[in-house]
Amino acid sequence: MLKDIQNIICNISKDLKISKEETQNLIIPDKVIEYKIKIKMDDGSLGVFDAFRVQHNNTLGPYKGGIRFHENVNQQEISGLAMIMSIKCALANLPFGGAKGGVKIDPKKLSKNELQQLSRKYIYEIYKNIQGDTDIPAPDVNTNPQIIAWMVDELSQICTEPFSALTGKPIHMRGSEGKVSSTGKGGVIVLSQFIEELIEENISELGGVKLPERLLKRTKTKKQLTLAVQGFGNVGYNFSRIAAEEGFKVVSVSDSQGGIYSSQGLDPIKVLKAKEKSGSLAGCYVKGRVCDDDESEDISNEQLLALDVDVIVLAALSETINKNNMKSVKADVIVEMSNGGVTSDAHEYFKEKGVVVLPDVLANAGGVIVSYLEWVQNKQHYSWSEKQVNDTLFDYITTSFKSVLKESIEKEISLRNASYKVGIERIMESINIRN
Ligand code: NAD
Repeated sequence: MLKDIQNIICNISKDLKISKEETQNLIIPDKVIEYKIKIKMDDGSLGVFDAFRVQHNNTLGPYKGGIRFHENVNQQEISGLAMIMSIKCALANLPFGGAKGGVKIDPKKLSKNELQQLSRKYIYEIYKNIQGDTDIPAPDVNTNPQIIAWMVDELSQICTEPFSALTGKPIHMRGSEGKVSSTGKGGVIVLSQFIEELIEENISELGGVKLPERLLKRTKTKKQLTLAVQGFGNVGYNFSRIAAEEGFKVVSVSDSQGGIYSSQGLDPIKVLKAKEKSGSLAGCYVKGRVCDDDESEDISNEQLLALDVDVIVLAALSETINKNNMKSVKADVIVEMSNGGVTSDAHEYFKEKGVVVLPDVLANAGGVIVSYLEWVQNKQHYSWSEKQVNDTLFDYITTSFKSVLKESIEKEISLRNASYKVGIERIMESINIRN
């Protein structure tokens, strides 16, 4: 993934006539921090885990990005994800740069006590590098408000402003209304706006390529669009729930243990309840599977990606659609809620076919936008209503979407390249103004 992102940035920098030296600054992270976390396991042994924080670029403001706990975490992946954050924050017009962190571990194998120690140690060890608004971490894969609460509590013992040091906190720890569902909500707004623009502006071509006939027909006649959502964690669940409320038909969802399908449409709230029935792991992870919903047919993750639906939503991990499986995709629109969910090969293939990819830096920006709003509320020692948060999220993400669509149509480039172009231009303008 890192190579893919570096290549996009290099190509766009060439088009924008950015010097080689400045391009290097855009593709090399400012700082890569690698360390070991040691915790006492419940059986008395010592657990040692690789931890990372990559601070990519802070031209526009403090470094900002999530922390993930996953067994596939490595320095390259975290660096790529940090780079995506810099572009995402710039595109959303936030006063933040990009960062990302992670620990190489399957946290679901830990006990609650072990997970708590890991979370506290992660933030304690990194504190000197993030203090004083240098870098503001947040949740990502397998990290949630409970884990952030442990981290804030740890910081409260060593600093005076622990609340604004992290976002994604529980509401009763100065978190923000609307934060938990913000990434999913932002994605649904982008998808809905895209459909609306197709209808109202009579768009039939994008990036210089004709859009799929079926998509144009179905949107014009206002047919209910069908959705398959891969990943049913924070992002996938909230996306499915809000999309269903907005009138989309969610026919399939999946998690790491498999998927389900119903041609009649699924009720995401009911699916979550079925998944939660069997309790939790490590005190904060749902133990069950979407397949515990017994009113639907079981399918595999590969089958989900190949379903004949209008829209596929990627809400699990990176590089899910790649050159090995891209040809099996039948959907006309892919919403890339996972960072780097579609590889560059697959992007090129979809571009030629007219399949629309709503790219990660645009589609999943709702999370960091509301993280920014949470930070602003913390700084003001004030809290906003859910409506105020959601309305502001809507304004930010709609403005980003419109600037990307305009760029894509005018320059005949894909939505992904248009997003990177707008983001890079903003970073460069800020650099140039200082010189
Ligand atoms: P999460 O840990 O809450 O959920 C991840 C989900 O993916 C789980 O349901 C898991 O079972 C599923 N999954 C894992 N491997 C899978 C596989 N091989 N096939 C199908 N499902 C699989 O994580 P999340 O916070 O929902 O994040 C999901 C994606 O969205 C990540 O790529 C993350 O970087 C991105 N993202 C998250 C946020 C946020 O605010 N949480 C913001 C921006 C982007």
